Amino acid sequence: MKKQKALIIIKPDAVQRGLSGTIVKRFEQVGLTIIGFKFQKADEKTVIAHYPSTDAWFEKVGKRTLNNCQVKGIDVKDTFKTDDAITIGKQVKQWLITYFQESPVLVMAVEGYEVIEIVRKLSGNTIPVLAAPGTIRGDFSHDSIDLANETCRPLRNVIHASDAVEDGEKEVALWFTPDELFSYVRCDEKIMFP
Ligand code: ATP
Ligand code: MG
Repeated sequence: MKKQKALIIIKPDAVQRGLSGTIVKRFEQVGLTIIGFKFQKADEKTVIAHYPSTDAWFEKVGKRTLNNCQVKGIDVKDTFKTDDAITIGKQVKQWLITYFQESPVLVMAVEGYEVIEIVRKLSGNTIPVLAAPGTIRGDFSHDSIDLANETCRPLRNVIHASDAVEDGEKEVALWFTPDELFSYVRCDEKIMFP
């Protein structure tokens, strides 16, 4: 079995709230190996490349808003002037570009077995109110998707975490050059993986 890589970004809301160290600790204490770590201002091009520009991704994001509006009886056209999931997803991506440039972000590459499942489990649901207590988003964000959409901004949900093995590889390669990545063995691996 091979180790995999995932990218974690501590988003501007968490950096500005002084939560970086607390969040990094969650990934260290579960046993993942930090192989890349840097604090930087995200540029527009990198954010555009980071979040997919596929209809499938736009639709997934748009459907999140549509489902929420349906459950709550909110007229989606009041904010988005459309009920087309892909168009809504494209709008959210525009908002993400602004959000990611609000302050520096802390970008971290981690490695481990089944790392994608682990980072997504630690992160919790995208919508903070649905994120379980004990998860990073459940513990450190109380943003509302209704309020976010009403005020034309993305959910401020503390972190990004890769959500597929291929995405982990691609995202690490997007944010880090090879000489910014390190290979070493954590001492607890001897105990964990005898
Ligand atoms: P991330 O990729 O940042 O780890 P995620 O994988 O949980 O988050 P995605 O569907 O990839 O969720 O959405 C990327 C980000 O866009 C979310 O984390 C959130 O900040 C924002 N976002 C997604 N959908 C919506 C929405 N419908 N309304 C507002 N913001 C949204
Ligand atoms: Mg995502």
